[in-house]
Formats: sequence, structure tokens, C-alpha cells
Amino acid sequence: MIVAADPHQEIRDAVRQLCRQFPDEYFRKLDEEKAYPDAFVDALMAAGWLAAMIPQEYGGAGLGLTEASVVLEEINRSGGNSGAVHGQMYNMGTLLRHGSNAQKNKYLPSIASGKLRIQSMAVTEPTTGTDTTKIKTTAVKKDGRYVVNGQKVWISRVQHSDLMILLARTTPLAAVTKKSEGMSIFVIDLRESIGRGLTVVPIPNMVNHETNELFFDNLEVPEENLVGEEGKGFRYILDGLNAERTLIAAECIGDGYWFIERARKYANERVVFDRPIGTNQGVQFPIAEAYIEVEAANLMRFKACELFDAHEACGPQANMAKYLAAKASWEAANVCLQTHGGFGFATEYDIERKFRETRLYQVAPVSTNMIFAYVAEHVLGLPRSF
Ligand SMILES: Cc1cc2nc3c(=O)[nH]c(=O)nc-3n(C[C@H](O)[C@H](O)[C@H](O)COP(=O)(O)OP(=O)(O)OC[C@H]3O[C@@H](n4cnc5c(N)ncnc54)[C@H](O)[C@@H]3O)c2cc1C
Repeated sequence: MIVAADPHQEIRDAVRQLCRQFPDEYFRKLDEEKAYPDAFVDALMAAGWLAAMIPQEYGGAGLGLTEASVVLEEINRSGGNSGAVHGQMYNMGTLLRHGSNAQKNKYLPSIASGKLRIQSMAVTEPTTGTDTTKIKTTAVKKDGRYVVNGQKVWISRVQHSDLMILLARTTPLAAVTKKSEGMSIFVIDLRESIGRGLTVVPIPNMVNHETNELFFDNLEVPEENLVGEEGKGFRYILDGLNAERTLIAAECIGDGYWFIERARKYANERVVFDRPIGTNQGVQFPIAEAYIEVEAANLMRFKACELFDAHEACGPQANMAKYLAAKASWEAANVCLQTHGGFGFATEYDIERKFRETRLYQVAPVSTNMIFAYVAEHVLGLPRSF
């Protein structure tokens, strides 16, 4: 069989080599302690991997979404979890696309060199959920600054970031003609904000993922921290979602291959009734099925990457890649657990940890129903349902 050379093999080899320094035991221990993978994140930043998509003029690698997605895929495929770092890759895109030259020159070189972390983006609110245009957090302009009040929920990596992108209402919903107007984005310097109008309350959760509730009480934000034009923030956030969804799809693909490899190996090794359990079709067929589905999802992920990197519209492909990959990785997780029988539940096998981790991606950063709604309305021309 002739197999075409993988054009990303060099990146894969380099990321795999870095990940080998952080084996299963490292992530298992952090999971037990609910701790953040500081050493791992530092190593990735020092090697420049999280600056993959920052243009070279700002000190980044100037690579595309394709290459960035390979980095995150390899992290998950090595048994790690990109959830601790992926924000750094897509949040900088908001500054790059919509920031002023002054903002880009101020932040991007330090983000590229690993001195500044922009791991957080604050959109979701407790009372409005997916209905983003109804957000209640407000930013009111006053004496050369904006004063922010409100609440956010599920905001990840705030305790391990220097900067955060915030979406807030600058014009009341009742005063805009279109509900998507009147929201703005700001770059928040967390080092100056926490304890001075911003309170961070961690949310214990099912996975080892640092995520928080945020309370804004008259937080003062300098006027120059507004990104782009006032009132256009919702559009700017949407612009970043295709990259985010495609990167998450790649992480799920990485998880999927990890689960399949573990299942394949165990099914070949584990002997019950005097033969490897993988001899039974009831064991091998679900593994084969999971593999087929991960491979198919991977094609859509690379299609989305290709369109994004060619600056072409990729909303349908990015959404479909996220849906297919999250579903495939979850099915692979289930098959892997089943193949391992009771041992799948043992912490030392890492399967239950990855099983919990990959489940998240059917809910965040966008839930499966919202992808169906997008495809129904924007691809198939069905009536808007909400
Ligand atoms: C671990 C974790 C990390 C996160 N990190 C961040 C972050 O860093 N920044 C951030 O801003 N957010 C973050 N989120 C929030 C995440 O994006 C939301 O949880 C997600 O978008 C769903 O919103 P919700 O939880 O409010 O669900 P809801 O909007 O309350 O929806 C609940 C369920 O109902 C369904 N539903 C709602 N309306 C409809 C409808 N019209 N039709 C069909 N189904 C519908 C949804 O699909 C969902 O399954 C994170 C969440 C988690 C769990």
C-alpha cells in the first residue's frame, strides 16, 4: 500500500517529542489535584507552538489554521488536554483582525514571545446562556473610560491569563434596531482588574478545566482597550468562531485517535476465553466503526482548515467539523471504555479521564443543537428557530 507522506509530519514529530516530557502520569496527577498544567503550558509557549498563527511581523510563526490545528491534535493524541491552552491560539485572532495598529504592536509581540497570555474570552452569562444578544453585562463610557458591570459564567483560564477578551453591551438592547448591534469587545488586563472591580470565583467541575464565574462591579477599563468599533463586538466574536470550532474539532480528532489506539492495543493483548478479546467481532467491529468515523470527521476538519487558510467562507465546514469530530471522539471514548471492561474505570488507565474530557465538546464552546440550528438555517434555508 502506498501511503502519501503527511505534509505536517515535521510539526507532528516536534510536538510529540515535547509531549513525551509530559506523560500520562503528569496529567493524571494534575487531574487528581485539579491543578493547572503550568510546566506543560510554559514548555509549549517557550517552543513557540501557541504563537503558530501570529504573523511573522509580530514575532509569530505565521502559520495557518491547518498547522495550528495539527499542534492541538497532537497534544490530545499524546494523552494531554489542549483545553488548558487553546484560548491563546484563537483569542489573539480577535486582536489581529479587529485591533488597532497600536493594540497589535502593544500586545502581539509579547503574546508571540510567550510573555503575555491571552487565554480567556468572556461571553457566556448565567441568565442568558446561548442567547448571547441578551447579555446583561454593560460597559458605559464615562470620562475617557468604560465602566463595566455585570456577571459572566464558565470563563476559562482567567487565573492563568494576563489578558481577556470581554463582550459587553454598550448600547441597551431596547435602543438598537438589530439585536446583534450595540455590543462591544474590550481587551481586559486581568493583572490590573482582578480585585479592582473584577472578582473571580472558580467553578468546580467534571474535568480538570480551570473555569470561573466573573463579577464586574464598576470595573474601569481605559477607552483605548475597546477593540475595533463600538457596537460591532458581536460580529467580531462571530468572526473568531470558525477558527475556534475547527481547532476544537482537531482536539477531538486527537482524542479519537488516542482512544482507538488504546482500544486496539488492549483488544490485541487482553486474553479471555483463551483468545484475545479483539478476535470477537463484537469487540473489533465497534473499534473499526469508531475509527471510520474519526477518519471521516478528520476530512471535514481539514476542509474547514483549507477554506479558512484560503480566506474563504468556512462557517458550514467549521461547524460540521466540530459536530462530527466531537461525536466521533465521544463514540471512540465509549468504545475504548467498553473494550477495557472494568479496567476502563481505573484511574491509572487514563481512559476515564479522557472520557470525561472529550465529553465536554458536545456542550462547549458551542452545543450540538446550536450547530444543527446553524446548518438548518444557513445551509439548508430552513426557517430560523429562535
Ligand atoms: C468547562 C466549560 C468551559 C467553558 N468556557 C467558556 C469560556 O471560556 N468563555 C465563555 O464565554 N463560555 C464558556 N463556556 C460556556 C459554554 O460556551 C456554554 O456552556 C455553552 O455555549 C452552552 O450555554 P449554556 O451552558 O448557557 O446552555 P443553555 O444556553 O442554557 O442551553 C442548555 C441546553 O439547551 C439547549 N438549547 C438552548 N436553546 C435551544 C434552542 N433554541 N434550540 C435547541 N436547543 C437549545 C442547548 O443546546 C443546551 O444543550 C464554557 C462551558 C463549560 C462547561
